[in-house]
Amino acid sequence: MRKELLMSYIVGIAEEQDFLCYYCDHPMHKHQHVEGQPTPRDAITKDHYIARAWGGLTHPSNMVAACCQCNNLRGDIEAEAFKNLMWKWFKRNPYLWIRWHNVANEELYELKLQCIRVYERQLRGKAQRYIEFAYHHFDFTFRERRRLALTYA
Ligand SMILES: [Zn+2]
Repeated sequence: MRKELLMSYIVGIAEEQDFLCYYCDHPMHKHQHVEGQPTPRDAITKDHYIARAWGGLTHPSNMVAACCQCNNLRGDIEAEAFKNLMWKWFKRNPYLWIRWHNVANEELYELKLQCIRVYERQLRGKAQRYIEFAYHHFDFTFRERRRLALTYA
C-alpha cells in the first residue's frame, strides 16, 4: 500500500513535468517493476533533488521525476550541475540526445566517469568551504578568548 502511494505521488510530479525527464527532457513511461528485471531506461523514477548524501529528504517537496538513465548517471551530483553537464553533452553531440535511451553501455561508462569527476570537484569545493569556515570560526573564538582573557586578567 505504502509503495503504491509513493508511486502515485511520483506519477503526479511526472504529470506536472508533462511526463518529460527533469534532466534530459525525454518522454518517460510508467512501468510495473518485476523482481529481477532491469528497470527500462525511459521509466519514471523518483529522484532526490537534494541528494540523500547531502541530507535531502525523501519527501514530495524534494522529488523530481527523472528517467531511469539520468537517475543512475546522476549519483550524488547537485541536480542543476548535472542538468548543465547533460545539456553540454547534448549540445556538443545532438545525436547523443536523439538516441539517449539507446546509447551503448561503453558510452554510458564514459559519461559516468565524467560525472564522477564533477562530483569529486564538488566534494573538494564543499570540503574547502568547511575547512575555511572552521579556520574562520577557530580564529574568531581564539581572538575572542584572548580578548576576554586580557580584559579580565
Ligand atoms: Zn532523463
